[in-house]
Amino acid sequence: MNLLEIKKLKKYFPIKSGVFSRTVNQIKAVDEVDLNIGKGTTLGLVGESGCGKSTLGKTIIKLLNPTEGQIIFENTDITDFDTSTIRPLRKNMQMIFQNPYGSLNPRMNVESLVTEGMEIHNLHNKGERRDVAIDLLEKVGLPKYSLNQYPHEFSGGQRQRIAIARALAVKPSFIVCDEPVSALDVSIQAQIVNLLLSLQNEFNLTYLFISHDLRVVKHISNIVAVMYLGKIVEIATSDEIYKNPLHPYTKILISAIPDIKKEKVNRKIVISGDVPNPIDPPSGCSFHPRCPIAEEKCRITTPELTNKGSNHRAACHLV
Ligand code: SF4
Repeated sequence: MNLLEIKKLKKYFPIKSGVFSRTVNQIKAVDEVDLNIGKGTTLGLVGESGCGKSTLGKTIIKLLNPTEGQIIFENTDITDFDTSTIRPLRKNMQMIFQNPYGSLNPRMNVESLVTEGMEIHNLHNKGERRDVAIDLLEKVGLPKYSLNQYPHEFSGGQRQRIAIARALAVKPSFIVCDEPVSALDVSIQAQIVNLLLSLQNEFNLTYLFISHDLRVVKHISNIVAVMYLGKIVEIATSDEIYKNPLHPYTKILISAIPDIKKEKVNRKIVISGDVPNPIDPPSGCSFHPRCPIAEEKCRITTPELTNKGSNHRAACHLV
């Protein structure tokens, strides 16, 4: 059963110019994205910086308003919900950000940070909130005395644990994890990912896990979607996509993952150039200027995301 369904979702940012501030162009940050996320599962969303992953995450939970398309959350169409109508649902959808240094107010102690959401949504009385905060701190691996401390007294990994406790305090069903471990050391990354996995089991949480690091995504995701210049270019189960990547872009990303268990180093496929400017994306397949096997038709016709078997979909003319 799906917790979330996204249909043909678009998020365009207008570029305005002149004295009348006319829209002269638009940045297509998210362009006709279809996704479903099953209850209690994780969808990993990968791609290079600037491909639209974070914008998609923020649009799904209505921190940004979509330009077009449909968002169905817990069987309710929330696409056109405004600030007041989304408010009761807001506690069900939380976000954990990349930078735990920036996402926690340095003037608030841990108790205030963790209980703030409960206060806003009128959950529990003051004493109960403190008990819930203590319980959550224990679950994320922090001692009770942390309640009186401030964010600057913690390491990066500990701050991310506080951010997770803060998100969990309002009992969400869905969490967008936006690059939650990329600012952390590798050893700490594994601890946080394992923590997210055990909390998912305990609370039946559903995650959209955004990352540019395919190693991390592999570990936590049931389904993996690869995004390039605002579009999903490949999607399949985690096992399938890592064993049998179809899209040339996915192959390049996977070839770049170091495998320390193998004696022989995988042949790394080198990707040329930078991500194109989303204001003026290339014609046809937007990956064609960087694709090692591009053909003439790739420059002319945009490939559709189609099923290539076993629920494995890819957008490429040559697959
Ligand atoms: Fe490469 Fe063409 Fe496939 Fe695009 S459609 S990924 S350019 S082969």
